Amino acid sequence: MAVFESYAPRENLINLSRLFFERSKLKKHLYFGQDDPLTSHLYQILHRYSGKPLLLQNLLDSGCPPDSRFLWEFDPVFGAKETSALLWLLCQAQADQQTDKRTVEILLKQGADPSFRTPGSGNSPLIVAALSSQPDVTLQLLEAQANANVEDKSGRTPLQCATRVGSLESMEHLLNFKANPDDESLHIAARRTKASMAKMLLDRGASIYWQGIHICDYRTPLGELCRNASPARDPAQLKDNLNVFAKRLPDLTKLANGRSFVLLALDNDSPFAMTTALLKAFRFMRENLNSDFNIFRELGGVCYSLTMYVRHFECRNRFSLDSERRCCNLDTCPAPDLEKLLREFGCRDRFWVETAGANQPPGVCGPPPHVVEEQKLVESLPKVQEQQTRLLAEERARARSNSGRS
Ligand SMILES: [Zn+2]
Repeated sequence: MAVFESYAPRENLINLSRLFFERSKLKKHLYFGQDDPLTSHLYQILHRYSGKPLLLQNLLDSGCPPDSRFLWEFDPVFGAKETSALLWLLCQAQADQQTDKRTVEILLKQGADPSFRTPGSGNSPLIVAALSSQPDVTLQLLEAQANANVEDKSGRTPLQCATRVGSLESMEHLLNFKANPDDESLHIAARRTKASMAKMLLDRGASIYWQGIHICDYRTPLGELCRNASPARDPAQLKDNLNVFAKRLPDLTKLANGRSFVLLALDNDSPFAMTTALLKAFRFMRENLNSDFNIFRELGGVCYSLTMYVRHFECRNRFSLDSERRCCNLDTCPAPDLEKLLREFGCRDRFWVETAGANQPPGVCGPPPHVVEEQKLVESLPKVQEQQTRLLAEERARARSNSGRS
């Protein structure tokens, strides 16, 4: 131990350590493990001298297992869990600096497991390397046969992590080593309006229709963009990203949770900017605002066209509204501008109840023909019943007078 505390010149330190390790060859517990890891040789070398790979080489040469495990608390939620020296080393890079590639190489060459997962969180070297934007280390791990599709306990993959931190290079390495592109990374690229990443994922086989199960409430990547991207962050990137999707000619009538793309854009935190960008990018959407797929159908069968949806749901202070759902007219309310935008593109008011036999609500407008027919039937029903009752009474009266005569 004193060797590492000595701050000796580099050469002396390496020579001293070689001698020291040779002498203590049989005392394996000194490497890592049974004792407090903080006092072990391996920890000291990784912690204090991770930039001096020869020291590590000497230690491993003297018999220290490269895959030494010890208890460490990365996350208080999971408590202290078994970790490997390699994973521990990579985790230090997140808060501190990049991991020394030579040290990683020595550990991997000597047999450290690149696919190790911690028992609690399921954390693994590849996820950490991707999250800390270390494409070179990511490649080292992949070349050492790390599984590119490893997941942590929450289902997070290395490709998702690389996409989240915006490392195009790490993404490329992972895809080259058969990472599945349909792991919702495209949703992340779309939400963060990273056009080059979305393009790479689509070029490498990601499906434009994959409905995000884990993180996106069953929205497709384009749906996720409409709902959750921030249009103000980088309008040019947003435009590029929408164009990346437009080039793939997606089916724009597809719904997510009963909502069309325009409805998802209206639900965005910046609904005006997002809806405008969407209508600019897709001619089909501009020309089909009145189509059936753009009708919002509420539970209970109430149906709203886009303008009526805005009037009913987009007012920022709708709790104070009267039964006619007039807008609050505050400067901050997006509803009037949205309604105007949709009207400019020809969107019409339609509002009705679809449920068979139901009475139509006040303000009903533009219901489909079958609803009009049904409503006529419902309205005519009391008259028909009245007529039937009258006929029956006449019949009975006739029968009575006939029996009286006979
Ligand atoms: Zn309002």
